[in-house]
Amino acid sequence: MAMSSTVKKRCPFMEKCYRKNPIHFSKMSHPHLEKLLINQLDGTIEIPEVLHFACNDHSQLLDQLKVLRMVLRKEREKNQDNPLPISSLSSEIQSLSTATSDIKENLKEKVERHKNAMIQKRQDKQIDAEAQALSKALINKECESSEGTKAKKRSQESFSAAFVTKKMKRMSIESSNHAKDSQQNISDSQSSFTSNEQNAS
Ligand SMILES: [Zn+2]
Repeated sequence: MAMSSTVKKRCPFMEKCYRKNPIHFSKMSHPHLEKLLINQLDGTIEIPEVLHFACNDHSQLLDQLKVLRMVLRKEREKNQDNPLPISSLSSEIQSLSTATSDIKENLKEKVERHKNAMIQKRQDKQIDAEAQALSKALINKECESSEGTKAKKRSQESFSAAFVTKKMKRMSIESSNHAKDSQQNISDSQSSFTSNEQNAS
């Protein structure tokens, strides 16, 4: 278990402690000594002329400070090497990469949806154009039949009605053939769309 200065127990001898054992300093806290070392972890240790505690032996104090400094430096290194627990860091990276792949997945879905919508639109347009062409042709047929003379029209009415029905049947067959062709066109354009996308990526 790592010992940090905040969880150390205070040395019961307080300012009268004379020990110079590094293990004692790493286990017990000596605030009067640590206070002197706050800004003196590097370089030579200077003992201020006026101390905030009673001290009869400055050389013993200096020895204690040297040992304590060694212990404090080790603790500092430990904290610098490991500012964050590795497990929490790696989980953070993992959650970050998961988020990125989520975004990628969403983008992929969006592209797919857009693509499908485009194809659907194209099909709808083609069908619309076909329907329009068909209705136009029907109107033309009607006009042609009304152009005939009245007498002729009367006598040919039944015949022309039959003719129109016949013609319409044929047209519907043609249009279904046409629909097949256009279906072929759609799948062609679909595959070219896909290959374009592959080229782009
Ligand atoms: Zn002590």
